[in-house]
Amino acid sequence: MSGDWPNNRFPNNSGLCATIHSIWLFHFFTILNYSAPFFNFLISITYNLKLYYHFWCDYLYAQSTMLENLKQQVYKASVKLAEQGLVIYSWGNASAIDRKSGLVVIKPTGISYEDMVPGDMVVVDLNGNVISGDLKPSSDTNTHLILYQNFPLIGSIMHTHSEYASCWAQAGLGIPPLGITHANFFNGEIPCTRPLSVQQMNRNIETETGKIIVETFDTAGLDPMRIPGVLVWGHGPFCWGKDVQSAFDHTVVIEKVARMAYRTRQLNPVNPVGKKFLDRYFFD
Ligand SMILES: [Zn+2]
Repeated sequence: MSGDWPNNRFPNNSGLCATIHSIWLFHFFTILNYSAPFFNFLISITYNLKLYYHFWCDYLYAQSTMLENLKQQVYKASVKLAEQGLVIYSWGNASAIDRKSGLVVIKPTGISYEDMVPGDMVVVDLNGNVISGDLKPSSDTNTHLILYQNFPLIGSIMHTHSEYASCWAQAGLGIPPLGITHANFFNGEIPCTRPLSVQQMNRNIETETGKIIVETFDTAGLDPMRIPGVLVWGHGPFCWGKDVQSAFDHTVVIEKVARMAYRTRQLNPVNPVGKKFLDRYFFD
């Protein structure tokens, strides 16, 4: 008996084994067959998640780099405005917008130019919500935001109380184009807004100032990219440009042409130059 033990304990069942083996193989390949799309889906989703992850990392990195770059530019322009004597104390302000994200970098309020560092620049969205920054954004922020919302091609805005431009604003007069210096940068008279009404002064005055600038351009059919500046009645100039450098240039030039026009008119009350002259000398 003991000699038969292995065969008795494990009878010859190779047929049964083969059947079980076939069934198992059949189910294995069936499961594999039906689950293949699921695995493909998993692989695809993992791959796409990886792509999205890299995309967002790149996007966030590019955005933070862009904002840091704009902070540097706005800071440097603000300091240069002070160096040029166009602003004193903490007056005046500069901003720039990243059009992709709709975020605006703007000088903080109430800090002197000597004490300011690039990291003090405040980031706000187009609704005025502070996104980052420890200080309060410029008191003129709403004016800047209204201009960014309505003039879609501008990338930077600067505001000063520079002396001669503010004199024209206080006189309620636009700066007439009297020569090439003006014509190179401004394709016509630099307009002066109407005064704010009593009702407007009872509302948010910075928002109303932005609206009255837009109204001035809309009413006269002016292109803000060809007349990149305005005088706000009784106040001073706001200038802009496609980027920080051009807004800065226009801020410097508006004071220059305001002074030149004032002196020219003192010498001789000449008429403004014509459209042909303006178009001929405008830096497109
Ligand atoms: Zn002001």
